[in-house]
Amino acid sequence: MDTVRVAIVGAGVTGLSTALCISKSIPRCSVTVISDKFTPDTTSDVAAGILIPHAYEDTPIQEQKQWFRETFNRLFAIASSAEAREAGVHLVSGWQIFRSVPTVEVPFWADVVLGFRKMTEAELKKFPQHVFGQAFTTLKCESSVYLAWLEKRVKESGGLILTRRIEDLWELHPFFDIVVNCSGLGSRQLAGDLEIFPVRGQLLKVQAPWVKHFIRDGSGLTYIYPGISSVTLGGTRQKGDWNLSPDAEISRDILSRCCALEPSLRGACDIRERVGLRPFRAGVRLQKELLVQDGRRLPVVHHYGHGSGGFSVHWGTALEASRLLNECVQALRTPTSKSKL
Ligand SMILES: Cc1cc2nc3c(=O)[nH]c(=O)nc-3n(C[C@H](O)[C@H](O)[C@H](O)COP(=O)(O)OP(=O)(O)OC[C@H]3O[C@@H](n4cnc5c(N)ncnc54)[C@H](O)[C@@H]3O)c2cc1C
Repeated sequence: MDTVRVAIVGAGVTGLSTALCISKSIPRCSVTVISDKFTPDTTSDVAAGILIPHAYEDTPIQEQKQWFRETFNRLFAIASSAEAREAGVHLVSGWQIFRSVPTVEVPFWADVVLGFRKMTEAELKKFPQHVFGQAFTTLKCESSVYLAWLEKRVKESGGLILTRRIEDLWELHPFFDIVVNCSGLGSRQLAGDLEIFPVRGQLLKVQAPWVKHFIRDGSGLTYIYPGISSVTLGGTRQKGDWNLSPDAEISRDILSRCCALEPSLRGACDIRERVGLRPFRAGVRLQKELLVQDGRRLPVVHHYGHGSGGFSVHWGTALEASRLLNECVQALRTPTSKSKL
């Protein structure tokens, strides 16, 4: 087999980064991204896009740290290049603050971000309700700008983009040799995975250009993340809630929580509400599966379930998905090992 035809289902941050990673790293593959929604209409477009990991309970910490490090290093390189503006990736410094001293004072990702340290007493004076805090510099993606940039890079690398809803992965057979499933919550149907569920997030985008430092309260339920064109205020985590309509009461609560941390936000204007459904499960599913039906075989690489942290780990998990895909490609090119797919 010469050219291996790869279909990637999904055009959020997971699908597009996987498509780009495969195009760059695996020779003689044609890549087609198939999705019913593209930027600006995916969950990924709603994300605040900050690189601060959320721990996945079923994944060894060293593995998660590796995903985060690979993602951080890649985006740091983009932020340090002439592409930074077009890619919508920038450095941002700020504080993570706590009302009581956390049991783990130094998180596993502390040596990946830049300049991680305990906040000084002088800094903590800004937050009279809080007793402990950490200061560091991380990266932030302007989500829709970054997705558009990824899509452009996929096309430049020869990838095709197709708007279509897939009801069953078998629809892609025999037009494609391998499928990479990056459909996020869509995997409930496409992979029959009932472990994945939505965690609803509502946030606000406001104009407050004087706010330059991020502020994240404890577990990250309340946050203020300054971006390129707006400041993102959050948030909520509503398990099992599929409602995509903004709730005015929740918006008032978010604004009030954020103003308590940064009173100058009372002067924010042009307030826009956004809602997204995080594709949540105990851990990211990164796994090969061989679908077999009526003597037909369809190798699938599953790559979904990034929950609250898709932006924080996407390049690391895309590298791992590409490694799994490469194993499938090698098996297809070696007829004797086809059965081991
Ligand atoms: C309010 C909020 C704030 C967030 N903030 C952050 C943050 O600051 N940092 C961070 O790291 N993460 C954050 N996240 C999490 C992050 O958004 C997700 O982890 C990430 O977007 C998941 O990306 P994805 O590509 O896997 O899924 P999605 O973006 O949902 O993409 C799935 C794709 O699959 C397509 N699809 C699904 N089913 C089908 C089908 N049957 N046929 C065809 N196409 C299909 C969809 O159209 C879509 O293109 C936040 C999330 C929310 C909701």
